[in-house]
Amino acid sequence: MDLEWNQSSTGREPEVAKLPFEIIEIGAIKLNSEYEMVSEFSELIKPIVYPRLYHITSKIIHIQMDELARGGRFTDISDKFRDWCGDDPLICTWGPSDVTELQRNLRFFDRPLLNDGPVKYLDVQKLFALSYDKDPHNRISLERAVDQIGIEKDIPFHRAFGDAYYTAKILVKICKEHPEKLKFVSYDVTFPPATKEDEVFADFGTYTKQITRVFKDREAALTDKGVMQIVCTKCGKPIKKRIGWFSPNGKQFMAAGFCDVHGLVKNRIRIQKYDDDSVCVIKIVKPIENEGLMRLQEKSARAEELRRKRKEAEKKAKELGRTGEQGRVRGSEKRFPKEPFKKR
Ligand SMILES: [Zn+2]
Repeated sequence: MDLEWNQSSTGREPEVAKLPFEIIEIGAIKLNSEYEMVSEFSELIKPIVYPRLYHITSKIIHIQMDELARGGRFTDISDKFRDWCGDDPLICTWGPSDVTELQRNLRFFDRPLLNDGPVKYLDVQKLFALSYDKDPHNRISLERAVDQIGIEKDIPFHRAFGDAYYTAKILVKICKEHPEKLKFVSYDVTFPPATKEDEVFADFGTYTKQITRVFKDREAALTDKGVMQIVCTKCGKPIKKRIGWFSPNGKQFMAAGFCDVHGLVKNRIRIQKYDDDSVCVIKIVKPIENEGLMRLQEKSARAEELRRKRKEAEKKAKELGRTGEQGRVRGSEKRFPKEPFKKR
């Protein structure tokens, strides 16, 4: 599946925060279990939130407003798309943003979500890097990927159907040449799991991933016993701490432990934040070797050093603040002398 979307050209509409991107085209190709292309979907949507086409959008995707004016309503087209998908589809896209924007648009226009919590999908851009790139984290454009593996360019890029078509072609090639990579599914967390029962737990063989239920804020998540437990990949049980939680960059937290049966394990958590300050936690658990433990120890020491320096700086700033206050008091005395008329 591929989407094209439009955005505000003025930034002044009240919907900007809730719907930064309004979907204007949905294109998709359906593959059966033999990876054959069996059906096509291509529909334009008339934008109603941002009725003017953002100049960069129209440059990139070559759609004109009069063409879009003949498009359907999002509510109708998205319903039609869901019917076309059938029950329990596995959506495949180039990169992570299409699933996010589809979920946001569905919520904004009050249509049923793909899933109320995280959506499982295949990020073909990620699978491409895992299959054909030296750097498995590399993300390249769809057209570059098409060129790299020699797929014939028989229709234009940057329209929803064309991009869905090339994404499907690349996916088919991965399915045939690297079927072992297909287990690396992705999860969109535009909406978090509501309850403990909805939490996601995925075992990728070499590591596991957990997406926790929603917490009311960061503080609540980071003080939750279950979240902060250091666990083993294989048995999932709490294990002995080797390195306590530390944050190398303020964005994620790391720790390590030792399982009597399975050895050294690294735990990493990332906080996914939502508009109302609520969060969910994404926890990755991975076995490591001694060398990995040492690297982690160095990182932890560096983080501790930074923390200490920051605290010192804060302390100094506080002290300076106090003298600053005194300075202001003196200043006010100057401005309002006790004997203002003496000089006269
Ligand atoms: Zn274990």
